[in-house]
Amino acid sequence: MIGILDWKKKGARNCLWQRAFGATLNRYYFDHNATTPVSPEVLEALVPALKSTFGNASSVHQDGQQARQELEAARLQVCRLLNCSAKELVLLSGGTEADNLALFGSVRPGSHVVTTAIEHPAVLNACAELESRGVAVTYVRPSSEGLIEPSAVSEALLPTTALISVMHANNETGVLQPIEEIGQIALDSGVLFHSDGVQAVGKVPVNLATLPVDLYSVSAHKFYAPKGTGALYVRSGVQVTAVQYGGRHERSRRAGTENVPGAIAMGVAAGWMAEHLSSESFRIATLRDRLEAGIRSAVPNVVVNGGHAPRVPNTTNISFEGIDGEAMVIALDLRGFAVSTGAACSSGAVEPSHVLTAMGLSRSQARSSIRFSLGRINTAGQVDALIGAVAEAAAHLRKLSPTYA
Ligand code: PLP
Repeated sequence: MIGILDWKKKGARNCLWQRAFGATLNRYYFDHNATTPVSPEVLEALVPALKSTFGNASSVHQDGQQARQELEAARLQVCRLLNCSAKELVLLSGGTEADNLALFGSVRPGSHVVTTAIEHPAVLNACAELESRGVAVTYVRPSSEGLIEPSAVSEALLPTTALISVMHANNETGVLQPIEEIGQIALDSGVLFHSDGVQAVGKVPVNLATLPVDLYSVSAHKFYAPKGTGALYVRSGVQVTAVQYGGRHERSRRAGTENVPGAIAMGVAAGWMAEHLSSESFRIATLRDRLEAGIRSAVPNVVVNGGHAPRVPNTTNISFEGIDGEAMVIALDLRGFAVSTGAACSSGAVEPSHVLTAMGLSRSQARSSIRFSLGRINTAGQVDALIGAVAEAAAHLRKLSPTYA
């Protein structure tokens, strides 16, 4: 087992991540908004948890009680990161489940929901289902910088509005939404406010004691815990109805035997974040700015989407005129770099990002966009290598492009 201290002793960020996770040498990962690798300290806690904390947290015997204790300790670690109380945190399988519980658990047929055109499919497709069940939904559009204006949310309210759902940080552009103002509008109007915080937790401080949100979604695989763990914050006094039927777990808000090792992993990841968030987000913001400046100076005719809006520190979304984003992803992958587009594959055709088109980009501009999302694993050397690879790939693809003169 590699100890976390070895990392500090050797001072080699890459070395530890690569040895701990079997990551292939000379492959560099710049897709942390899709998912993050499990961190060394989470791995160190997870393996013993899988071995020895196997009890069912609802069992009365000692094995069950040990599991219960560890589950509650892990919950508290997540609560410390978010500044909420243990009763307010429902442990779940991830962001999609949190969004579904927030929406289906709080909205009834005949009512109205205000959301935005730039939400993750976990919210948008849940809203489409709500519409088919007799709920009216208004989709507020963003500005050209990807920002949701609080006044537009206010104007969309109806006497029947039950819920406003606006994400905290956008997964494609990293743009931070003004959820303090939007939450205040909800509060003043007596409407519940849900925010999908999946891309904000672990990137910016989140203080649920002061944020005016009633429901807040969290996914732990975005902050270095394994996939399949997450939570929904439910403000004290707010009722959500469980969306699946079974045992009375999680104060009857989520039926199903708790994933204790997963919760322990999420707790350790949250504990690390609580301690290192400010230094790490500063380091990552510096790398992101270096990447943006490097690409701008090495590649002509690029646009940073949402670049003038407040953003999480790790994300940049760049349109490369005349280049197909999917071709760029493949070209970079062949050079050893993992990045992504916001495009979705539906019915066999690649659809441009709904986020970028809602911001007013044409379909071809949206198709030419790449999301780079940085994380703990990245270094300045990797960023410089990525800038070189992007410049090379862009020049090559533009030579082949029928639309780039
Ligand atoms: N919400 C946002 C903003 C996301 O970016 C994601 C995942 O990418 C989700 C929800 C879904 O989270 P999960 O993968 O944990 O289901």
